[in-house]
Amino acid sequence: MAEEKKKNRIAIIGGGASGMTAAIFASAAKDTEVVIFEAKDVPGKKINGTGNGKCNFTNDDMDLKHYRGQHPEFASFALSVFDNETSKAFFKSMGIRPKEKNGGYIYPNSEEASSVSSALRLTCAEKGVKFVFEKVKIIVKEKNTFKVNSQSFDRVILACGSFANMKDVTDFNGYSLVKSMGHRITPLYPALCQIRCKGSFFKTINGVRTEGIVKVLVEGREKASENGELLFTDYGVSGIPAFQVSRFCAEAIGSSKKVVLSLNFMAGMSKDEVRTEIQNRFRKLSPKGRTNEEVLLGLLNHKLNFVLLNLSGIDPTGNCKSVTEDKISALIKNLTDLRADVTGTNDFSFAQVVAGGADTLEVDPETMGSKIVPGLYFAGEILDIDGTCGGYNLQWAWSSGAIAGISAAFGEKDRDMRSFIEEIINR
Ligand SMILES: Cc1cc2nc3c(=O)[nH]c(=O)nc-3n(C[C@H](O)[C@H](O)[C@H](O)COP(=O)(O)OP(=O)(O)OC[C@H]3O[C@@H](n4cnc5c(N)ncnc54)[C@H](O)[C@@H]3O)c2cc1C
Repeated sequence: MAEEKKKNRIAIIGGGASGMTAAIFASAAKDTEVVIFEAKDVPGKKINGTGNGKCNFTNDDMDLKHYRGQHPEFASFALSVFDNETSKAFFKSMGIRPKEKNGGYIYPNSEEASSVSSALRLTCAEKGVKFVFEKVKIIVKEKNTFKVNSQSFDRVILACGSFANMKDVTDFNGYSLVKSMGHRITPLYPALCQIRCKGSFFKTINGVRTEGIVKVLVEGREKASENGELLFTDYGVSGIPAFQVSRFCAEAIGSSKKVVLSLNFMAGMSKDEVRTEIQNRFRKLSPKGRTNEEVLLGLLNHKLNFVLLNLSGIDPTGNCKSVTEDKISALIKNLTDLRADVTGTNDFSFAQVVAGGADTLEVDPETMGSKIVPGLYFAGEILDIDGTCGGYNLQWAWSSGAIAGISAAFGEKDRDMRSFIEEIINR
């Protein structure tokens, strides 16, 4: 009797965005059995909550500047061989029509994140990927194999994500699994979350939305800047621009550095234009006997006007005739450069992603393979790569997942990775 050809058995720890992508690409190899271990009762649960339930799964602007980590250039190879166009082709091949919104942000045409997770789940099943709904507690490296819980595998892909947005972060053991394989974890910080500041005035403007620029100053030097719609909370600043810069606040506060936010509510106007605007308002409206808050009527949200006047030493209900030039200058400063001391960010349970993870110095960027343990691979957020809002984190999950899946299943030989990915998508 002919001896049965031995199957290459691959265990993928985590049935999320990167794990299911890795499985789809790995299952293209012959004589390969792909098993996804998923701790939850269904795969891809996190995907369902992305993009406010609509799933912003990639972006037409794929510049590396949207990626962070101790070594963001690690992401460059994966993003070049599996870019935004590859993501669109990958999802089209599964029936998901991409739709562009807000200048380059890509969503499924259904605007239902669940259609993305379902397409991945169905494709995995159609390709013979097995799902085991059990949490992986232990991975043991044996001579040429790995024991995952009680089963034996030739290769393992760690695609277990992060503890971002989890109610109880102690439920997550992904970082322990990474460490148990001898890999380092870089410092972890919440990213894409709200920023907490000192200042009782935040209570007055809680819920106010306004266009503006937020700058992060670390020890007095500008570290990051974003503009867009800011949303105030009773403890600080939220909204997409605040999310984008939050990891820099978390990181600097974590290193005991002084962090200050500078907020500019007059984006698009020069300081001189702002001065002219404010002086004209006081000059034109003072003969009419208006109050100071009536002078600012229609400039910004009335609650924000009220706070900025108070912070500038101007009584909002006082007659505008009595305001001095000094106080007008203070108001102009607060309109264009309101300072607030940062005390921290919201914790991991509020964050969309975690900054930090498996140290990318110990992983090969062209295969996602471990430089320490042969046969071990990484994909997705477990690695020390995080993206800004805009589809960049899911793009990283697809790109790194595809490379890890191919390398684990087909071996780490030299190949034109981009053509190989396209060939698998078009099969
Ligand atoms: C509210 C919210 C909105 C977001 N919106 C967007 C967006 O619009 N666009 C974007 O690009 N990114 C978005 N993100 C980020 C994005 O969802 C993640 O970066 C991405 O899902 C990471 O993919 P992953 O495969 O690494 O991890 P996940 O998708 O989190 O998958 C990891 C899986 O591993 C499982 N797992 C963990 N440990 C174990 C274990 N020990 N055993 C077995 N299974 C395990 C988990 O249950 C999970 O299913 C958002 C995140 C949140 C929280």
